[in-house]
Amino acid sequence: MDTLALAELLFPTIDKTPEDYEALYPARNLPEGARVTRMAPSPTGFLHVGALFGALTDERQAHRTGGVCMLRIEDTDKKREVEGAIGLFIKMFGRFGIHFDEGAALDENGEVIDNGAYGPYRQSQRGAIYQACAKKLVQMGRAYPCFCTEEELTAMREKQEAAKVTPGYWGEWAVWRNASLEDVQKALAEGKSWVVRFRSEGNPENRVKLTDAIKGTLDFPENDQDIVILKSDGIPTYHFAHVVDDHLMHTTHVVRGDEWLATLPVHVEMFRTLGWKLPKYCHTATIMKLDGGSKRKISKRKDPEADLMWFVREGYSAAAIREYVMTLLNSNFEDWRRANPDAPLEDFPFSTNKMSVSGALFDMQKLSDVSKNVVCRMKAEDVYTQALEWAQEFDPAFAALLSRDPAYSIAILNIGRGDPKPRRDYGVWKELPEYMSFFFDETFRTGAQYPQNLSAEDCKAIFEKFMETYDENDDSQGWFEKLKAIAGAIGLAPDTKTFKKNPGVYRGHVGDVSMVLRVALTGRENAPDLYTVMKLMGKARVFARLNAAQVNA
Ligand code: GLU
Repeated sequence: MDTLALAELLFPTIDKTPEDYEALYPARNLPEGARVTRMAPSPTGFLHVGALFGALTDERQAHRTGGVCMLRIEDTDKKREVEGAIGLFIKMFGRFGIHFDEGAALDENGEVIDNGAYGPYRQSQRGAIYQACAKKLVQMGRAYPCFCTEEELTAMREKQEAAKVTPGYWGEWAVWRNASLEDVQKALAEGKSWVVRFRSEGNPENRVKLTDAIKGTLDFPENDQDIVILKSDGIPTYHFAHVVDDHLMHTTHVVRGDEWLATLPVHVEMFRTLGWKLPKYCHTATIMKLDGGSKRKISKRKDPEADLMWFVREGYSAAAIREYVMTLLNSNFEDWRRANPDAPLEDFPFSTNKMSVSGALFDMQKLSDVSKNVVCRMKAEDVYTQALEWAQEFDPAFAALLSRDPAYSIAILNIGRGDPKPRRDYGVWKELPEYMSFFFDETFRTGAQYPQNLSAEDCKAIFEKFMETYDENDDSQGWFEKLKAIAGAIGLAPDTKTFKKNPGVYRGHVGDVSMVLRVALTGRENAPDLYTVMKLMGKARVFARLNAAQVNA
């Protein structure tokens, strides 16, 4: 077979070679050991939570080594593409603090553009590159056109099943493998639709061995399938696009889901056939969840948390999500965090060796816990900025309250911060409207119970006496002394100790006085430190609430 003639016949307009492209995309000028990684989503809908695990693995590896992290868009399946998904993905990665140095990006008008010297970064715009590489394979005798129809392929599979042989397009089943130039010319002249297949020379009796950065040693039978590399519209399959792009973009580490392990021998064979260096593979385990005691994949249909947008709507901070994802990605992260409670996550020595080989469990309870830990260590100003941004998008009424008096809001958010054991009142912004509600008259609700051991008269007396003596300039100790005095004046014990020592003598103790005030001021039995709350609310609001309570008690 004259493979050069065949290549011209199939690709008459392709005049560039892979070598021409290699010259266009020369080796990157990076420090020794720098890793080049890429996140390569298909824009077929929403961004799955699992994408964040891959993205963070890409981003950390690149940025810890002084390398480059790219965003490549695998939009080769136009039928499954969802309008606007690329822009959504770019924004979503941004929301979670994943920074790409290169790749698909948005310009100031929200249009998708290419940023970097190794593009285009959308596979749909790289047609000529794939065709040049396919043409080279045809010239080498390592690729050929196949004119089989769907019906012929189905009939072949049925025969294979009946004969109990490995299904697929391989060996003697690969009917176009040894077709002559004349056969091809004839089929082309008849206008038959065709794909390009890779001609495998593998033998499943032989083994392919390589070391995966996560899974360790891999040992597979060689590939012998003649897989499709270009579809009938000239668009590549994932397998071919992966090999061509990662070669020309100089990817050093390919992080991808372990569903690709099955076709890894094909990829290895293609890299070797083209004489290209294999990247280091990092096959990540699927993230699972517990459902009724058993582990399963997080499902797009069943689980709202499959969609990363869900976390945004709930108001998880990017820092909390990154922190939690890191606990799942690297088994030693939590120990490191305990030793370095305030260090930025970027200081953690992330390593693919510490990644779980089988499915890690996504645990909402743990996430909520981690989230509270992260949020309680943030500065009040940062909480304010992030919560306001969230509220402007998802709770405009709350945004209006929050931003009416920023200093007031920040002071509220500052309660219990900076202590060695900071308060862990909330982990997501969605909890803030409720948590902060009593500080704003618009959202304050009464309803909590006054202590049962006190009468309405007691409550009234407490309000009255408190207002008589309250001085905003009192420190917390002076303030508390006044509560004790009120307790004494209405026959309650000044402290719990005295109360417990003299059973039957007192109706209650000073704690009941503060409870009465708390219920009147906050509408709840549990609230942050009452002295602080009063200081923040200011005398006018405190008195207005107590006067209203006085009437209703
Ligand atoms: N588009 C592929 C996917 O979403 C990318 C796999 C890869 O990173 O190579 O699974």
